Amino acid sequence: MSAKVRIYQLAKDLGVNSKEVLAVLDTVGVEYKSHSSTLEEEVADTVRQLISQERGIAEAGAEAEGEAEVAKTAASTTVAEQPTTDAERPVTEPAKTASTLPRRAPVVTVMGHVDHGKTTLLDYIRQTRVADREAGGITQHIGAYQVETPHGAITFLDTPGHEAFTTIRQRGANATDIAIIVIAADDGVMPQTREAIAHARAANVPIIVAINKTDLPQANPDKVKQDLMRLELVPEEYGGDTITVEISAKDGRGVAELLEMVSLVAELEDYRADPEGEIRGVVIESFLDKRAGVLATVLVQEGTLNVTDYIVCGEAWARVRRLTDHAGKQLDSAGPSVPVQILGFSQQPGAGDTVVSAPDEQTAKGITGEKRATREEQERELIGKKNVTLADLFQKSNVKTINLILRADTQGSLEAIKGVLEREADSSDEVDLEIMLADVGSPTESDLLLASTAEATVLCFGVNAPGSVKKSAERQGVPLKSYRIIYNLIEDVQRMIRGQIEPEYEEHVLGHAEVRQVIRVPRSGNIAGSYITDGLVRRGAKARVFREGREVYKGSIAQLRRFKDDVREVTSGFECGINLQNYDNIQEGDVIEIYEMVEIAV
Ligand code: GDP
Repeated sequence: MSAKVRIYQLAKDLGVNSKEVLAVLDTVGVEYKSHSSTLEEEVADTVRQLISQERGIAEAGAEAEGEAEVAKTAASTTVAEQPTTDAERPVTEPAKTASTLPRRAPVVTVMGHVDHGKTTLLDYIRQTRVADREAGGITQHIGAYQVETPHGAITFLDTPGHEAFTTIRQRGANATDIAIIVIAADDGVMPQTREAIAHARAANVPIIVAINKTDLPQANPDKVKQDLMRLELVPEEYGGDTITVEISAKDGRGVAELLEMVSLVAELEDYRADPEGEIRGVVIESFLDKRAGVLATVLVQEGTLNVTDYIVCGEAWARVRRLTDHAGKQLDSAGPSVPVQILGFSQQPGAGDTVVSAPDEQTAKGITGEKRATREEQERELIGKKNVTLADLFQKSNVKTINLILRADTQGSLEAIKGVLEREADSSDEVDLEIMLADVGSPTESDLLLASTAEATVLCFGVNAPGSVKKSAERQGVPLKSYRIIYNLIEDVQRMIRGQIEPEYEEHVLGHAEVRQVIRVPRSGNIAGSYITDGLVRRGAKARVFREGREVYKGSIAQLRRFKDDVREVTSGFECGINLQNYDNIQEGDVIEIYEMVEIAV
């Protein structure tokens, strides 16, 4: 035996939860970094003694009170059967982390660079581990599946990739507990590997690295581990706490160990949920089946979903008509961490929508109606503040952390910028600077997704954002700026840090129109028959509506017409038809102010 023992190994040997070992270490004042840190043999011995002592006390105490059963099955009993006060709780369960709820399976997402083997890994696990294939149907992809392992069940979301992961998160739901980052051993860390790591870090989920394709002769797992060090993911064997497992998704080697590591992390993180609580879940995917209607896969997170229950998610509601699992088997109910396909939705819910329960159809419908109204309201507001600037971002002045995504033309300039920015951040006590991702190349859609979810700013040096990405940034309200001179970039960040950044856009009024007649058009909404009193009106320009001096709408001009033709611009003294984006409540006598946002040169 070696002189040093890893914490999780020790826990395993003792047959206890790693958290118990950590709790003992806390009480005796031994510092550790994580469950994978090593302990000196002497310390390990102390832990062994203390835990067996505690175990003795717990068993004696429990027997004395005739509650031995409760102590042994604490993790799987229901709330009602649990001891409720601290005094009654078995001593082995550290009071700090004690939970009376049963454990649930961890939910895992697989991410990584394209072609590194994410899909192959998910398929391999599904094929080798799904137990009841014969039980009633054809295995089907429903967006998630659950497998049994010797260390407990694990749920996998099987749309791999960080885009799917962050899309769900963007809606406010966190569906994933653990991220597996797949890296091909013949290729090493690639751009999307770095992106995936950034996305997992932003979500604050533990990362396990699967070094894949180790069956190939040219596989070089050591190089992958060195690459990881540079990303501050130091593998355990180099003294860090990043779990890495060498696998082959093709022939299956290492996969069992990978699953064991997932269970280990899950045990440490101690995921629990109440199967008897209020139903809460998240939509993983949904689609419209020509014959069956809307089908949506929901991951249950709390409570137990039953056939005939009423649920609401987003603007859709359902009376659950059928529950099906990934093996095509019909279920009566689904508890925490179980993914199920649901039949019975009124319309298609979106991935990431939260699922809640409703007592009856009327309430369900009422909630969806309210949600629709709120969304329409929010959309209207959003259009009004499309051009989010660095200044806007900062004016939400409780921003204590500035999240940045850096894109540059070369590794050299990237390192230089990072170096300066990190020094700048160090010199400020009030503001933290978090560089979520720093990479060579143009910004991507996935950067925007990450940025919009984490309220980050994308700064580019020496690279241009593709037109589609620029447009998308505008639409999502993600600040994205390109620089040719490093100094300007740094200066902007300095201003952000000091909170002194000047607005970069200002309003420029183009003209005014008076609404003389409202023309009701069934499908395309109401058109304001207007007269341009001054200046001009331009299609796509921003607009606000004043009624008796009060602003009643802020948005943009969706459509502009002269007689029957669509036109781009109409000038003062003429009449035209104006259709405002998402606004149907225009009235005679309203005044439309047309304006645009003009960028001020930096
Ligand atoms: P994804 O884009 O990350 O989902 O990658 P895929 O799972 O589609 O795999 C890309 C290619 O790598 C496919 O041709 C797979 O057959 C192959 N592949 C995946 N895993 C392994 C592996 O462990 N060993 C070998 N030799 N090939 C693999």
